[in-house]
Amino acid sequence: MNPSIAVLAGDGIGPEVMAQTLRVLQQVAPQITTKHGLIGGAAYCQYKSHFPTATKQLIDVCDAVLFGSVGGPIEAAEQPQWKNCEVNSILALRNHLKLAINSRPAKFYPALKDISPLKNERLEACDEILILRELLGDVYFGEKRTYTANGYKIAEDTAKYDENQIAQVAHHAFKIAATRKQQVVSVDKANVLDTSKLWRQVFQQVAKQYPEITLTHMLVDNCAMQLILNPAQFDVIATSNLFGDILSDAASALPGSLGMMPSASFSSKGFGLYEPSGGSAPDIAGQNKANPMAQILSLAMMLRHSFDLHTEANAIEKAIENTLDAGFRTQDIMQVGRRAVGTQAFTDEILHHL
Ligand code: NAD
Repeated sequence: MNPSIAVLAGDGIGPEVMAQTLRVLQQVAPQITTKHGLIGGAAYCQYKSHFPTATKQLIDVCDAVLFGSVGGPIEAAEQPQWKNCEVNSILALRNHLKLAINSRPAKFYPALKDISPLKNERLEACDEILILRELLGDVYFGEKRTYTANGYKIAEDTAKYDENQIAQVAHHAFKIAATRKQQVVSVDKANVLDTSKLWRQVFQQVAKQYPEITLTHMLVDNCAMQLILNPAQFDVIATSNLFGDILSDAASALPGSLGMMPSASFSSKGFGLYEPSGGSAPDIAGQNKANPMAQILSLAMMLRHSFDLHTEANAIEKAIENTLDAGFRTQDIMQVGRRAVGTQAFTDEILHHL
């Protein structure tokens, strides 16, 4: 039977970039069936829920999820359509699917090195940094409380990890490193935190099963600095939920624009959800200005990881590189002397190069 995917375009630029991405899917893998569902503010309008049962049922019969973005303008955050939209939709979705690992590649394109906030010489040897982040543990899911004692307000968030959660990330990191540069940097704060000491021990233990991979450990504060000073030293970085949240955003700024950054999240059974790293960008929504790269590259990740369609995934990535080399730019990555185009025309070029 042909595989099927749930397509959840969401809000803001989500439907625009999704429509373009489905043109690419149609060209490279027309055998994949798409089933559309509502999520976020778009779902609220119809169901008064950001993550309605109809969408849950749709996801449960699909082989992967291609997600757009959710959320409204910050100034409308208290309106019912947008209130807690992200928490009720994307966080609930991650929990529903038990997505345990997030994978975010930050790719450096030679054609775009001048838009990076880093100096060119720091980017010379940079190709791609892959940040793997644990998604279901740490302070986000530990016990939380706010209380008053001795006349002061006090707030607590508990960080918690069990060894199985950590081992799952470690296995994923070593397996993916085997297909890349055979190196993993595990990032923690083992000089201070118990959760990090356990993280480091488990990584060392699991590493024995992957003797061909070089494992090094780095403290998170040093890693933040090294990402800026010498990003070329990294290939695969594996880290806990909180550190990964921060480091993956920092790394995604280095190539130049959020609009180019895809991501994938996996459950322990290998089910995948694929989405751009950025949000719904209400400031440019509906104006044909959004960069479709993040969404289209998320599709490429889906084809590779959920369906083993490596040739198709490589072809998409190559077509994007060729489009950039040919001088086409959306407004977020515009450079002097290059050709500014909108979301649709940029995708036309990608299709032309496919
Ligand atoms: P954002 O990522 O939407 O936008 C930040 C900046 O990046 C904006 O200037 C935007 O124009 C730009 N940008 C993002 N994607 C782009 C693209 N593809 N092409 C060109 N430029 C792009 O973050 P924000 O403005 O802080 O949040 C807007 C809404 O998105 C909020 O409601 C927030 O809650 C939501 N959000 C959703 C997700 C998600 O769906 N996973 C993630 C982050 C934020």
